[in-house]
Amino acid sequence: MGGLGEIYERKMMKDISTKIPPIINLAEKYNLPVEYLRYVVANYGRFYTLEKSEGTSYTDTIFDEIHLEPGLVESLNNLDPSDFMPESDSLQTLYHEMTHAYIDLRENEWATKELIASAETYYEGAKLQNGEEVGRTYQVVQEAAGAYVGHRVATYWNALQGLHWLRNNYSKGIDPLKYGKNSNGSLAEIEKTYNAEMSRIVYGYEQGLFSGQIPVKKPIFHRLKYFCDTVILENKIKAEFSELLKGGTIYTNKFKSLVDEINTQKSIWFDDHSVSPKIWA
Ligand SMILES: [Zn+2]
Repeated sequence: MGGLGEIYERKMMKDISTKIPPIINLAEKYNLPVEYLRYVVANYGRFYTLEKSEGTSYTDTIFDEIHLEPGLVESLNNLDPSDFMPESDSLQTLYHEMTHAYIDLRENEWATKELIASAETYYEGAKLQNGEEVGRTYQVVQEAAGAYVGHRVATYWNALQGLHWLRNNYSKGIDPLKYGKNSNGSLAEIEKTYNAEMSRIVYGYEQGLFSGQIPVKKPIFHRLKYFCDTVILENKIKAEFSELLKGGTIYTNKFKSLVDEINTQKSIWFDDHSVSPKIWA
């Protein structure tokens, strides 16, 4: 849309910029990466809800704005892994769009510029899922980074929610498996799901001209992954579940105590504590 229509659209947009910093403060409480989010808030500034005519959330790198789906900010206002709300989808979108904005802000710095150029070379001629070759390498680099960051944050949040859900059930003497077999039914399932999701290496897509998003088939460029892991995710999102419990920091200790509590409660309620007599006289 352009011209008068666009001006009208822009007048109708709801500015939600003031709602973002409190969400970032909440995210920090659960050891989610926040430095790059604050960098985007400080340098980009404007956040809006999407209008009806728009599709999914997007980052406008010309106006330096992020447009988010209606309801997304509300779903994160009370970010809390123990309320079992579907927050990971909203986090995934927020972190994805913030990654686009962050790269947009830093791409003129020498090191970032060099990284993006190398990543673009890497994706040149790479196959898309429809058999065609990547045409817009910059878009694929941006989408690989956004998808990688969003997916890792969502996986972390799902595990944290799963642990709270397990503890909640066990502490009431409820066997979580009574709800049927599910990915949060046991510690082992949560760990297995986490590790499997974190081992995923293919991310990103190219927007088709007449079709939707066409995923790439090539694994994420290793230096782009490293940039996302260290600079954007602050090394907070570990590749292995067991690593979340190690290190002795305030956060790893919190994770560990949650797991310990689950094991204790499970043992109290569900393990057989009767001492079987070995010899019957
Ligand atoms: Zn994107």
